[in-house]
Amino acid sequence: MKKAFPSLFAVALALTVAGCGDSKTPANNASSEAAAKAKVAGNAAVNAATGNATVNAAVSNTAQVNSAEAAAPEGTKTVTLANGASVTWIQDNEGKKLMPRELFSDASDSLYASLNMPAGIPASVSMFLLKVDGKFILFDAGLGAWGGQLAKRLEALNVNPDSVGLVYLTHFHADHIAGLVKNGTAGKMEKVFKNAAVYAGKVEYDAWMNKIPKNDLQKNIMALYKDSLHLFAFGDSLPHGVLAMDAVGHTPGHAAFQISNLLVIGDLMHGYALQKNHPEINSNYDMDKAKSAESRKRIMQYARDNKLLMAGMHLPPPGFAE
Ligand SMILES: [Zn+2]
Repeated sequence: MKKAFPSLFAVALALTVAGCGDSKTPANNASSEAAAKAKVAGNAAVNAATGNATVNAAVSNTAQVNSAEAAAPEGTKTVTLANGASVTWIQDNEGKKLMPRELFSDASDSLYASLNMPAGIPASVSMFLLKVDGKFILFDAGLGAWGGQLAKRLEALNVNPDSVGLVYLTHFHADHIAGLVKNGTAGKMEKVFKNAAVYAGKVEYDAWMNKIPKNDLQKNIMALYKDSLHLFAFGDSLPHGVLAMDAVGHTPGHAAFQISNLLVIGDLMHGYALQKNHPEINSNYDMDKAKSAESRKRIMQYARDNKLLMAGMHLPPPGFAE
């Protein structure tokens, strides 16, 4: 699956992935895949065992996620929100991820040196799976064919992609949307989440469809999901009580999402250790640096004021920050 993407798709991905946080090409490591499969099988067995202990009469998906919390499959962590919903951090990248010093031109050498992280700032490529009202909701979809571990992680969590009813997108960079698609029969791009409604910001959608160059991947994915696509405005109250918030700057329509005491912050931060105390510092991936810094300050303050748990797509494992 990772090798055989049609050339148009591959070219589009190569171009767009390079611009947004992860420039790795697809890994073709048979031995690590075999090892990973063995781990998945192991996790499934553990889940089944703990599931028997905790499941009552009804075998619900909630019980499966709760049992996964106890078992904590590799690259995941599940926490319970104030409203009783659960949210699972899913690490999409394989292995460790460090954001290099060169990514933060705004930071002085002395400030960077004070972090004592010469190899780079710990980070991840992540997405978050919410279980609420008996439904699975995914926030972003990760790298897909470019090294994404989502399919494997969902399997370890006993979640079938067909049971994901909704996907919220923070923005359209490839490391957030490529996981919506896979290589299907005859090399055709196919949906990974065939029963999911996809929610995207109208400003973000319009920017990528009309203004931003190198947008083949974005156009192809949006065309594939056009019948299940919903465009929202900031401030809109969306299904299951999700509030869409303006986090513009990283991209023209970059969105954050709040549900209960969870705040999904997308790409507000690429170097948490640096930016948590210096929200004025942008990463070089941020397309509009002034707006990005303003959004980072405002949203981090909002999270503090309201005691929200932040969930970030490039926060270091396990993807959450108080
Ligand atoms: Zn990103």
